[in-house]
Amino acid sequence: MKSKNLKLNTICVHTGEIKDEQFKGAISPLYMSTSYAYENMDIKQYPRNFNTPNQRALSKKIAALEHAEDAIIFSSGMAAISTSLFAFLKKGDHIVMQKQLYGGTHNLIVKEFDKFGIEYSFTSGSEEQDFKNAIQPNTKVIYIETPSNPLLSVVDIKMVASLAKKYNLISMIDNTFASPVNQNPIDFGIDIVIHSATKYLGGHSDILAGAVCASSEHIAQIHGVAINFGGTLSDFTVWLLERSIKTLGIRVKAQNRNAKQIAKHLKKLPDITKVYYPGLKSHPGYELAKEQMKGFGGMMSFELSQEIDPVAFVKKLKLIKPSMSLAGVESTIVSPTKTSHALLSAEERMAQGVSDRLLRFSVGIEHRDDIIADIENAIAKVKKQTVTT
Ligand SMILES: *Cc1c(COP(=O)(O)O)cnc(C)c1O
Repeated sequence: MKSKNLKLNTICVHTGEIKDEQFKGAISPLYMSTSYAYENMDIKQYPRNFNTPNQRALSKKIAALEHAEDAIIFSSGMAAISTSLFAFLKKGDHIVMQKQLYGGTHNLIVKEFDKFGIEYSFTSGSEEQDFKNAIQPNTKVIYIETPSNPLLSVVDIKMVASLAKKYNLISMIDNTFASPVNQNPIDFGIDIVIHSATKYLGGHSDILAGAVCASSEHIAQIHGVAINFGGTLSDFTVWLLERSIKTLGIRVKAQNRNAKQIAKHLKKLPDITKVYYPGLKSHPGYELAKEQMKGFGGMMSFELSQEIDPVAFVKKLKLIKPSMSLAGVESTIVSPTKTSHALLSAEERMAQGVSDRLLRFSVGIEHRDDIIADIENAIAKVKKQTVTT
């Protein structure tokens, strides 16, 4: 069956699976071989060539999820991002980057690009005019991230895709926060869709991986560069990632439901001054998110009032874990100032609207009443502590 005729959860479970012809097992066999017969020298099967049986099979599943012709899997989200950028940029070229970006991507640009003579501009905002203003005669790529980390800002994907077409640029999006369940940018005309598979695709906080989805032609161009940079993923992890994606649809939909209810609840609490969630009508990106997303996702961030010390608050949480990463089945919380945005200066953080009181919250699949109780109890405990000391 062609995957385009299949529904989300069926693609998650079945697309790209390797049939176990030998033993008729229920799941894809794992091929750990790094050495394959050289009968067909055109193919040169080798893990760093991104063409082992498990790599190719999983690529089909991820491509189908993103409505793409093809996909390629990497050893990390950053390997996927850096390889994709270097595949389309050379010395003297220019790239337009959205202002609000994942910290690691921001660092890649500002720390590495000068060495290669690649020029870059960050937009001053996320409106069409902000992107237009940043485009130069040597611009080759336009790069966005929506919803973005950590404030869940929403950028108009269709607008960016059509600007890219008009100016003959390659458009790239980091689709990690939305996951393919909630947002399929290729449907809006984006060329290259990138995922840190460490997040929702993996979903259990135990896999580091990345993926890129695009047309066969664009994937071929990225593949040519990927072989030289060598950011391949071990076949064992490829196999684990396949297992994880089988439950992607049901996990993310549960996280969507939880996050929406929890965001509404947190907004009512007097000790929480701001809640950033694209599914709240008060969020500036709400209308746009409704148009381009199928669900609002499991990520939010919130700011505690002056009375509640964010460090003490996180220490008092019992269920929600302090964690660098996100998108697992367990709820996790983090201070962006101390993690994803730690390498930025205080001024750069302020420019991105990331305050020291901000906490980024990745909602898991636990029962929402337990998550809410955990937050309310932690607030109460910090308040009591403040009164007694
Ligand atoms: C985590 C993350 C990355 C980087 O992915 P790694 O797998 O850690 O290399 C890139 N973009 C976003 C939005 C992320 O959350």
